[in-house]
Amino acid sequence: MKLSSGLPFSLLRYGLPYNYPKLESAITTDVVIIGGGISGALCAYHLIEAGVDCAVVDKRTIGLGSTAASTSLLQYEIDVSLNDLIKLRGEGDAVRAYQLCNEALFELEALCRRIGFDSYASTNSLYFGVARPDEKRLHEEYQTRRQIGLDVQFLSAADVKNQFGFKAFGGILSSNAAHADAYALTHAILQHSIRKGLKVFDRTRITKMSTAKGQSKLVTEDGVKIHCNHVINATGYEATTMLKKKVVDLRSTYVTISESMSDCASFPFHQTLLWNTADPYLYMRCTSDGRIIVGGRDGEFANPKRRDDAIGRKTKLLARDFEKLFPSITFRSEFSWAGTFGTTKDGLPFIGKPSNRQNIYFALGFGGNGIIFSLIAAVLIRDSILGHKNNDHPLFSFERA
Ligand SMILES: Cc1cc2nc3c(=O)[nH]c(=O)nc-3n(C[C@H](O)[C@H](O)[C@H](O)COP(=O)(O)OP(=O)(O)OC[C@H]3O[C@@H](n4cnc5c(N)ncnc54)[C@H](O)[C@@H]3O)c2cc1C
Repeated sequence: MKLSSGLPFSLLRYGLPYNYPKLESAITTDVVIIGGGISGALCAYHLIEAGVDCAVVDKRTIGLGSTAASTSLLQYEIDVSLNDLIKLRGEGDAVRAYQLCNEALFELEALCRRIGFDSYASTNSLYFGVARPDEKRLHEEYQTRRQIGLDVQFLSAADVKNQFGFKAFGGILSSNAAHADAYALTHAILQHSIRKGLKVFDRTRITKMSTAKGQSKLVTEDGVKIHCNHVINATGYEATTMLKKKVVDLRSTYVTISESMSDCASFPFHQTLLWNTADPYLYMRCTSDGRIIVGGRDGEFANPKRRDDAIGRKTKLLARDFEKLFPSITFRSEFSWAGTFGTTKDGLPFIGKPSNRQNIYFALGFGGNGIIFSLIAAVLIRDSILGHKNNDHPLFSFERA
């Protein structure tokens, strides 16, 4: 599957910072992680830190799946509001899911510090209303979030106008949010983990997998064998072809990034991730080099060609969406791209073992919070492999599909 197209900014900005070898002779390891995007990198990090022997293999060049296309907003807020999630999953699960995402942001920040990745930028996040009834809903959502201890403020329409300079029907301002380029971070995590013993191979496609007596054998397209005790599929949206049940709806999503602007730091939303209540939602953030990323305008995923043909038209629409909010700022789009994106019914990812698989795990961070979900997946799967108790498994289990 062609996961993205156009000119993803991360790839332009960071290029190919490291080369990784192709797997050319058989290896034996405790854990094999298929997929070298942010999910695979985070799984590898957690296992290597726990002293587990593991290897990452990716059929592409490292990072060039969805990870290179990511806009890298980091939020505890998932695509489904807390109040809606309570209706879908019950209060206990919904609250725990939000709290886990909130904690995961702090964990990711700490991880970045530990590995010396200095581009994790803490911000606020403003979730704003686009229609009059949203104001009441947002206020109710704010109250529920506050009750569970999240650091949030409710902003009236007038508050949004005063603080951010645009018209909205109320908003929830959250103090815990960030951005950290997922592609650069993936390389940083892998490099750190390689120094601790991780083996990473790219341009290495797994075409066959079999399991007998708790041992798995993987074979690459060149016929090279890998023997291991556990397999983690961190294969992103392409994992959908390996699952019996449909767990995700694929969509096409679009992003454009402006030219660098010398006055970007003076914009009132400079330190704030913005996203709204529209469906599909519009989101934006500033970058450390004075650009504005605007994304959204999602559509159903038909095929990569149709998605890619729409990039020019979607770019114009996204620029117009931005200028409607901020008419005094001219948005000059410099690069645009499109990607495949997945949504689940409850906005939560699928993590763990589908019931019919023995030692085969999936780390599928589907949804708008993919990167935060990747971290949660890495912790849960590490705990499973090490035999450590973790009560959060059922939240993301395949049983709910
Ligand atoms: C345009 C866009 C914007 C986004 N914005 C955000 C955002 O702001 N915040 C956020 O949290 N998330 C965002 N996401 C989602 C986030 O980027 C993804 O959840 C995340 O990058 C997925 O990472 P991954 O490692 O699971 O998948 P991928 O990066 O796709 O990595 C999976 C890897 O598996 C490899 N693979 C697959 N099959 C095989 C095989 N048989 N053998 C070997 N290798 C294989 C692939 O080559 C691929 O590199 C966005 C996504 C898109 C497309």
